[in-house]
Amino acid sequence: MTNRIYLSPPHLDGRERELLLEAYESNWITTLGPQVDAFEREMCLKVGVPYAAALSSGTAAIHLALLMLGVKPGDDVLCSTFTFSATANAVTYCGGTPVFIDSNYRTWNMDPELLNEELESCAKRGKLPKAIVVVDLYGQCADYDPIVSLAAQYEIPIVEDAAEALGATYHDACAGSFGEMGVLSFNGNKIITTSGGGMLLSAKKEYIEKAKFLSTQARDAAPHYQHSQIGYNYRLSNILAAMGRGQLENLDRKIARRKAINRFYRKAFADVPGIAFMPIAPYGEPNYWLTCITLDGSSVGVTREDIRLALEKENIESRPLWKPMHLQPIFQSCRVRGGGVSEDLFSRGLCLPSGSGMSDSDLERVVEVVRKTVAPD
Ligand SMILES: *Cc1c(COP(=O)(O)O)cnc(C)c1O
Repeated sequence: MTNRIYLSPPHLDGRERELLLEAYESNWITTLGPQVDAFEREMCLKVGVPYAAALSSGTAAIHLALLMLGVKPGDDVLCSTFTFSATANAVTYCGGTPVFIDSNYRTWNMDPELLNEELESCAKRGKLPKAIVVVDLYGQCADYDPIVSLAAQYEIPIVEDAAEALGATYHDACAGSFGEMGVLSFNGNKIITTSGGGMLLSAKKEYIEKAKFLSTQARDAAPHYQHSQIGYNYRLSNILAAMGRGQLENLDRKIARRKAINRFYRKAFADVPGIAFMPIAPYGEPNYWLTCITLDGSSVGVTREDIRLALEKENIESRPLWKPMHLQPIFQSCRVRGGGVSEDLFSRGLCLPSGSGMSDSDLERVVEVVRKTVAPD
């Protein structure tokens, strides 16, 4: 049996081991410590945001952001429907109700026109949402100019879920720098990983100080343990921050490799009618986290599942595009604005193996299986 090719496995190719040993030998292995401080500083420089709190996951970062924005039971929070469940789950942790907004075909991200329609209708009903969570899907920023100006018009804060988009840009700014707060994830399959972890970013110091307080059990300043608020155990450990620093040093190299992988697939399928790629919006540069294709059934004659199963048979992992949140059984009762675009993309779309550690021969293996499935001879 050939080696399994995974969708987006961890890729340790830098000083991770050295930095981990440094943390180990210093005996700073629990939450907080010099590696956490350094990881936050280095991430701030990378993303161009002044303040950051390293946390145990991206989900925890979204949860704290929404808590700090005052999301409470009964509140609505607008949220991209085409995303991973963590985005919407965090809304429910605060007791809020997600209201889903569909994507457009141009970017696969939140459609600003649908956002406008939903905000108008919320205003008419006299109940504005408490926040808007905007996702940067598969490593590409959403279209922030219109989204930010709509949010400003209605005075509703944005939380940017940039979990998939570290290193991507929108005009001159980086993913994670939009809205009141930005969220990153260092989960095992993201572009860099700490095995598990996340970060909350903001231009406002008070949010980050509060996040650090809430994520370490909300201890009041006292020699004994004293609490006047509910806290959380959400801080990143020093050991994992060391790992993150080693990964972050090579972010540019990882993006360059993922971009080359994206180009490789585009070239390999250029002559295959019916295979299309996630569009690259003109306003910025993605981080090419995952290369995603869609199949046009009428010209290809095979479905997304045919290709996924053919790859699986050859020990290659691929995955359907995110199933939209408004189609998830758990969110069935939530409102959705639009929905057809993400439903269509979900039914026809597939994420191809895109890990920065993939070799050219791995890529050829994937391409061969896809081509054979599409055009068997
Ligand atoms: C991965 C991901 C998250 C969650 O991050 P974790 O670190 O796994 O909690 C949130 N939103 C999106 C869009 C993601 O892809």
